[in-house]
Amino acid sequence: MTTKEFIELEERYGAHNYHPLDVVIERAEGCWVYDVEGNKYLDCLAAYSAVNQGHCHPRIVNALKNQAEKVTLTSRAFRNDQLPLLYKELSELTGYEISLPMNSGAEAVETALKAARKWGYKVKGVPENKAEIIACKNNFAGRTITIISFSTEEQYRDGFGPFTPGFKIVEYGNAEELEKAITENTVAFIVEPVQGEGGIIVPPEGYLKKAYDICKKNNVLFITDEIQSGLGRTGKLFAFEHEGVRPDVVIIGKALSGGCYPVSAVLSDREVLGVFKPGDHGSTFGGNPLGAAVARESLKVLIEEKLIENSAELGKYFIDKLRAIESPHVKEVRGKGLFIGVELKPEAGGARRFCEALMKRGILCKETHENVIRFAPPLVIKKEEIDWALTHIEETLKMA
Ligand SMILES: *Cc1c(COP(=O)(O)O)cnc(C)c1O
Repeated sequence: MTTKEFIELEERYGAHNYHPLDVVIERAEGCWVYDVEGNKYLDCLAAYSAVNQGHCHPRIVNALKNQAEKVTLTSRAFRNDQLPLLYKELSELTGYEISLPMNSGAEAVETALKAARKWGYKVKGVPENKAEIIACKNNFAGRTITIISFSTEEQYRDGFGPFTPGFKIVEYGNAEELEKAITENTVAFIVEPVQGEGGIIVPPEGYLKKAYDICKKNNVLFITDEIQSGLGRTGKLFAFEHEGVRPDVVIIGKALSGGCYPVSAVLSDREVLGVFKPGDHGSTFGGNPLGAAVARESLKVLIEEKLIENSAELGKYFIDKLRAIESPHVKEVRGKGLFIGVELKPEAGGARRFCEALMKRGILCKETHENVIRFAPPLVIKKEEIDWALTHIEETLKMA
């Protein structure tokens, strides 16, 4: 079948909740993906940072295969021999006492919000049904009804009300506004250390530290959504490390499975996740042995192959080189590690046409909002591959 035929099938039989580039991928390896016509592309999106370890990493695929032949799902009605090891390894790696596994990122966000509310009632002593959670303008945390209830993106909400109450919005990057928004019923502040879907927005230096201190002072949980910014993407294990804070709750997903299987988790000390009692919360697939085995290997690959260091080093190199490109269209280049956004001027005609031009040259990236091109390749990328991409990016950014 041809590209055109696959696209026709998809358009005819699928719901149109995405607007993908017209490339039909049939296999992938490391940083590279191959379409059904035999064309090869450098993947500069990495499935929104879920394939930080590179596509089809042999060690992760092996872990998946081996576990798939043993046992895939027990449900949490019984125990399995992978989940306890994932718990232990996550705790040793991150320093958090306990964790709670889910599948998608959105489910992990929901889990963190539920934990925060329960903590508010049982530990902080907030009156019943009064808990407030503060989130930031321009956030992205998933697509469930509760999560879009604190989205500020019109399209994400349009037609989906009524919304879940209990959320307040403050300006991202403005710690003073956060402080003013806190009341005695505030239980948590949830924040992305770098806003991903919002356009790779890096907050002013010192913001996270200030916000963290404000939360500590007011007995408010500081929750970071590291689903996209975590696990090496910004050149640290977690993006919050750039400011030396230790959130009360950390949410991870995406690269936790190296893109091989949906696995997410919430991390905290016992004080927060300890509020859950048997029956309070759960998921049929959450913590399944297949996902746990894949996550264990994905974390090992991230550390043992020094992908976090590679992200720091090559991210800096990539950003410096992008900044040196003289293009009439570029407004700003920003990012941390291999989490990079090139914002175009409003008159550049939108990022989509540049992404389409890059695709023709063998580079896959995706516009983020109207005017931002995101570069976030798998963390296994090599300097030569970045250099190759840069020549094409430079020529593309100089086109009329
Ligand atoms: C992708 C993402 C989510 C949602 O994850 P899903 O697996 O798509 O549900 C939540 N928060 C952030 C910051 C994300 O980038």
